[in-house]
Amino acid sequence: MTRIVILGSTGSIGTSTVQVARELGGDYRVVGLSANRSWCELAEQAELLRPEAVALADAEHGQRLSQRLAGVCSVKVGPTAAKELIEQVECDFVLAGIVGVAGLRATLAAVAAGKRVGLANKEALVVGGSLLMPLAGENGAVLLPVDSEHSAVFQALLAGKPQEIERICLTASGGPFRTWSRRRMAEATLEQAMAHPTWQMGPKITIDSATMMNKALEIVEACWLFDVPPRKVEVVIHPESIVHSMVNFCDGSVIAQLGCPDMRTPIQYALTYPDRRCGCSQRLEISKIGVMHFERPDYERFPALRLGYETAESGGTAGAVLNGANEAAVELFRGGKIRFGQITELVGAALSGHDLTTGPTLEQLFEADGWAREYVRSAL
Ligand code: MG
Repeated sequence: MTRIVILGSTGSIGTSTVQVARELGGDYRVVGLSANRSWCELAEQAELLRPEAVALADAEHGQRLSQRLAGVCSVKVGPTAAKELIEQVECDFVLAGIVGVAGLRATLAAVAAGKRVGLANKEALVVGGSLLMPLAGENGAVLLPVDSEHSAVFQALLAGKPQEIERICLTASGGPFRTWSRRRMAEATLEQAMAHPTWQMGPKITIDSATMMNKALEIVEACWLFDVPPRKVEVVIHPESIVHSMVNFCDGSVIAQLGCPDMRTPIQYALTYPDRRCGCSQRLEISKIGVMHFERPDYERFPALRLGYETAESGGTAGAVLNGANEAAVELFRGGKIRFGQITELVGAALSGHDLTTGPTLEQLFEADGWAREYVRSAL
């Protein structure tokens, strides 16, 4: 029996995980759920799945949730509720599906508890990789990437040894603005940025895909997860989103993982690893795809990519600044306060204006995150 806690259960990754866990059935049981503010959705999931406990970060609706779930399961409320959930509910697998740095403490708690962790919360690694990776080693936690690219790399790496890796090639759809000029992109609307051509995802990552900041975060994520220097991570534009990433080995062989753009595939693989199960993912019919395209990314139109390499190179608090500035800028763009083109500009300015701290503590990482958010907001 695999006992699962889902952090961020009402989000895009969380709801897909619920589907996958139900489809797997029998020996997979959801024992804990956590959400930020969506208490009604959380209550519905709890009524359906009958977990042992749920956690709600936002205290405002805590009482209503507790009343509704009286006799169903125990309810934890407040900013540390997700962390308590992991520490108090007996579980084997934690799906870290919280978006942004908001998930860092809970993800660290799962790693400190030596769990198997399905890592969809890439920002936790971007910000806190320097703490998370050694902590995982010390406590015997197993990190299983749920990001589709990193799941693909993880699977491809089973074909060789770490010292045989020549480079890791992350594919990117290029997002909705792949063919747009920089000038046109600068004025893109929220609606245009939200129209991702291949993936159905939550709003934050969808905007990150449009700026390609998502790929910048994924470059940093790959360096941490697979212990490779940034120069060994390449980005290739692949608009069809069928090849989820590849590894080039030293003998010239390239091992790729392919599939439909369906997040349930990497979620399920993390849950069933090292086994594979049938599950509910869409099936790929490659003859229907016919042609696949690959092209070099344009660093002039998508300067976020360069920021990703710079951040991975710098280490220290750079990841916290890249991510904090980006989260703040995306929020401002979603609120209609800045233009699309300003997102990456502001993140770049924050990175240049930041005094790097090497070997940061968790507090220093949160300070850098706060500094970057303030920097972006004050630039208005
Ligand atoms: Mg991804």
